[in-house]
Amino acid sequence: MALNPCELEIDLLCRGIRIPGDVSLDGARGISRTRAGLGSGLEIVIPTGSWWKDRLWVNVPVEESFARQSPYVLAGSPAAGYHVRDERSGASHAIEIPREPAWYTRATTRGIPMNRIGVLQGTYLGIYVNLVCTFWNYQPAVNCRFCTTGQNVGEHEASDKAVSDVVETCRAARDESGVTFVHLNAGFQGTRGIQFAEPYVTAIKEEVGALVGAQLAPEKDFSRYDRLIDLGVDHLSFCLEFLSPEWFAKICPGKQHVLGQQVFLDSIEYCAKRMPKGAVSGEIIAGVEPIEETLRAVDLIADMGAFPTVCIFRPTVGSDMESWPSPAYEDMRRVMVHVYEACRRNWIPIGAAPNIEVSLVVNPDDTVFLAPRSAGFYTYEAWRRAVRLVARPIFWWRQRPRRRRRGAGIGENPPAPEGDRQAGPGRQA
Ligand code: SF4
Repeated sequence: MALNPCELEIDLLCRGIRIPGDVSLDGARGISRTRAGLGSGLEIVIPTGSWWKDRLWVNVPVEESFARQSPYVLAGSPAAGYHVRDERSGASHAIEIPREPAWYTRATTRGIPMNRIGVLQGTYLGIYVNLVCTFWNYQPAVNCRFCTTGQNVGEHEASDKAVSDVVETCRAARDESGVTFVHLNAGFQGTRGIQFAEPYVTAIKEEVGALVGAQLAPEKDFSRYDRLIDLGVDHLSFCLEFLSPEWFAKICPGKQHVLGQQVFLDSIEYCAKRMPKGAVSGEIIAGVEPIEETLRAVDLIADMGAFPTVCIFRPTVGSDMESWPSPAYEDMRRVMVHVYEACRRNWIPIGAAPNIEVSLVVNPDDTVFLAPRSAGFYTYEAWRRAVRLVARPIFWWRQRPRRRRRGAGIGENPPAPEGDRQAGPGRQA
């Protein structure tokens, strides 16, 4: 049976792709592992030719062992264009491979290549802003078992990013790649993780003017979120990962031991009440815990007014879960249908923000291709279009560079949290 664009996206995320040695990727974005390691694949765009959504961005696994058995094979060339051939059916899907931007290899004034500061993941700029997540410093390490941040920071990306490095990289990405959204993420940094991120948020809002999202380990003092919101953060996301307490504890021992699962849910709920609908997301990984738990997590997050961001589990090379199987396509399709229905039921304005396409996950609005065509579907889609129109000037306004309100200049670095930089076993959030 022919796959629609979102089904193809899901199948590629589950099965990966093979790239024959004679297929040139000259000029393509490099395949490099940064942040938690999930961006380890080939960035592609699937043109849909559809009125509902014209392009889907996907980071397709290449290096993981399951990808070597994939029925999908890349064909074509930079000059002739590319397509993905499905060896099971003989079907061929035209795709685009986005080019690596020129700014990737330019250096900041401190001499650091900009692609060691941030990378494009889809159409947004992703920057890991803290030092290595301290869960990696425990003996034995209590890192999340799917994660490779401890191997990437300092290796594939700069470990110490000055605010000026981040601002210069954001400017280049905005001016040359049309980036509208900068996503700052960080691992666990004790009780100072949010404070550590504040100078970056302030500088980007004031000096660059993009939309800014932050994905930080939750902290129990919720007034810190109020402060981030006051600084102008546009989006907050929380990596709940798993709803089942058993799976949460098993796969995320550091989060379980130091933070506990409940603070993730409480943080989503608190921030979803403080921010406009759709400005908060709860991130979950599908394909590890039983599927019913994932469906419950989707409902729980959407019922709180946040949108569920579902990452299809990728057994990334070098992670503790490297030898785990990749999830089954049928299960993941079922989850994504559920995402659409949960967002529709709760009137979550998915896809409202301009030019934010995340290649590592199935964007909630990609699932429009999976949804049953009912009266509810058409009503929700008409509403989403109206919201996009109304929200356009609001997002334009939020993207303007703001006048500096205090002394935080672009050369000012985040505080060195006393002790937290070397945090070891037993640190509490
Ligand atoms: S909190 Fe978990 S997923 Fe995030 S950086 Fe730390 S180990 Fe990785």
